[in-house]
Amino acid sequence: MSATPIPPRLEVQSLRRVFDGQPVVEDVSFAIPAGQVTCLLGPSGCGKSTTLRMIAGVDMQDEGRIFVDGKLICDTVFRVPPERRAIGLMFQDFALFPHLTVAENVAFGLKGSASEKRARVGELLGKVRLQRHANSYPHALSGGEQQRVALARALAPRPGILLMDEPFSGLDERLRDDIRDDTLALLKDEGTAVLLVTHEPHEAMRMADEILLMRAGQIVQRGAPYNLYNAPVDRAAAAFFSDIN
Ligand code: ADP
Ligand code: MG
Repeated sequence: MSATPIPPRLEVQSLRRVFDGQPVVEDVSFAIPAGQVTCLLGPSGCGKSTTLRMIAGVDMQDEGRIFVDGKLICDTVFRVPPERRAIGLMFQDFALFPHLTVAENVAFGLKGSASEKRARVGELLGKVRLQRHANSYPHALSGGEQQRVALARALAPRPGILLMDEPFSGLDERLRDDIRDDTLALLKDEGTAVLLVTHEPHEAMRMADEILLMRAGQIVQRGAPYNLYNAPVDRAAAAFFSDIN
């Protein structure tokens, strides 16, 4: 008897989005298994955020289908609302609640008893090394610390999938690589399937298990970072990867 194959955590098929008669996302398909970090990489304006917003459910595709754990959550007629997709979100401006403490921010989306919530918040604050700031307010934290709170908050409800849109771009350049490495370690520890949007090849090379290279709304190449770097699909892709520091 053969084992039933495990469906990918997230799968999108032939996503398309048109604004003002112009397709900005065209025939985008990919799948992300549990525990894998996939980077959607491409220049500004190529359609990355639009793709992510359709998956989050805050925008609706004109064509295509989205599956979570093998279950259809959205096509052009059927649509599970964003809050019922079990998909976490993390954007560039971390948007912490300024009037809530660090611990309250992390607890915000959690369900369960008070003691269960306290345990999960404590676990995550430990993992991002912010226990001693549990009762601080966000304004008292550095940018890097705020980013860690936002990451802890996004992961607290154990979303199977986390969507991250340029999550490091507001941070001091000198801190970014350390924060990327810490973030990646925590994502791997939690086993989350991640779609990370970035316009920086260096970031994708550093963090991705798989890179989806996007240009003008379409995925033009996909594969392991090493393969894209060594065998770019065309001159433009080679140029894009050539300024990696
Ligand atoms: P990226 O995240 O890769 O920088 P976006 O997905 O934000 O790109 O945008 C892709 C294209 O779609 C851009 O040309 C942008 O101007 C356009 N666009 C995005 N959102 C809208 C919208 N709500 N209405 C009209 N055009 C939009
Ligand atoms: Mg964007």
